[in-house]
Amino acid sequence: MHERKTKNKQSGLGTRAVWAGEKGERWRRATQLPVALSVSFGYENVDEWLEVARGKRPGHIYSRNTNPTVAAFEEKIRDLESADAATSFSSGMAAISNTLFTLLSPGDRVVSIKDTYGGTNKIFVEFLPRFGIDVALCNTTDHRSIEAEIGKGCKVVYLESPTNPTVKVVDLARLIAAAHRQKAVAVVDNTFATPINQQPISLGADLVIHSATKFLGGHADALGGVACGRKDLVAKIYHFREINGACLDPMAAYLLLRGMKTLHLRIAQQNHSAMKIAQFLELHPSVERVFYPGLKSHEAHAIARKQMSGFGGVLSFSLKGGFGAVKSFLPRLCCAHLAANLGAVETVAGPPATTSHVESTKGERARAGIPEALIRYSVGIEDTEDLLEDLRQALEGKARLRTGSGTW
Ligand SMILES: *Cc1c(COP(=O)(O)O)cnc(C)c1O
Repeated sequence: MHERKTKNKQSGLGTRAVWAGEKGERWRRATQLPVALSVSFGYENVDEWLEVARGKRPGHIYSRNTNPTVAAFEEKIRDLESADAATSFSSGMAAISNTLFTLLSPGDRVVSIKDTYGGTNKIFVEFLPRFGIDVALCNTTDHRSIEAEIGKGCKVVYLESPTNPTVKVVDLARLIAAAHRQKAVAVVDNTFATPINQQPISLGADLVIHSATKFLGGHADALGGVACGRKDLVAKIYHFREINGACLDPMAAYLLLRGMKTLHLRIAQQNHSAMKIAQFLELHPSVERVFYPGLKSHEAHAIARKQMSGFGGVLSFSLKGGFGAVKSFLPRLCCAHLAANLGAVETVAGPPATTSHVESTKGERARAGIPEALIRYSVGIEDTEDLLEDLRQALEGKARLRTGSGTW
């Protein structure tokens, strides 16, 4: 676990993305942080070792608990989210499951929304009930019914905004306030927005979760997760994680740290392109519907404007012609990986059936209001014009079919 040592400086998020967490020891004046692949850390005398073990002196003992490269990653995201403390995990799902299993005990109740990430939804419907935890999943956009469920009393309110894959937006400040009236812990999965576009702690959240695999890392080459926020809660989650062992690997921590240095630049470009693409698709005759919080036609555009400083790099759209149209459209994209990922420097596209909701059945997807002809499109940092041109030709169906991933 990494705690706030000093008050957050007033520097901008870009400066903090570059410099936060970078103060650790260097090897022979190297400017870049070392990757500490060591499992354990050795001591010359037992007293010093004991002091480190008891937390009286800074240092590391064993990398399942803490590690210098991992600590640097935790400090960078802690700073960007203006949290008091942060702890990291082997994946986003590890962050989510460790958080929920730390906060909830048999007999407790948790309120969430139907549109959480597919894996998160599985925890709610398949795993938590087995431990005698009562789960209430509400219609994502029905704020009144969510407030009513929270009002019945609960231990945790778990939110995600924008959601995956239909990018619905929930009013975080409003629902967090409802949670706090019940003395419940408010948790927000901020993976889609990133701290550049949305700061849940400033809206009252007690804990913020990320799949660092996505935008934070940004290069689709490392899995990781983080939970940050209130110090007392993060300390409990950290304790659970150090025992169950879902720790972040130091090499992955290094890759995520390196990716995060350009977070603000990538997000600015992705916000810009996603908006242009959403506007283009909305007018295209082959497109049935476009989902993007930046569009005036989005049902919660006003809420998005209130709580986000940018609308993000993910949009989704449905094609006229059903799943058959999806199957012929996707392979025509030249400038996109067809893959189950998002938030990377490359554009990534795919249907929910093979991406966010691969764990769900067809019926579950339908009940979640996900059209079968939906495509999730995660905008990369390519030139906006090239992405528009690629979509244009793929929708017109004239292009050659690709021969493999990345046939650009
Ligand atoms: C991908 C994702 C997760 C899970 O993260 P992993 O790193 O794949 O375990 C959780 N929440 C959201 C919103 C995601 O997009």
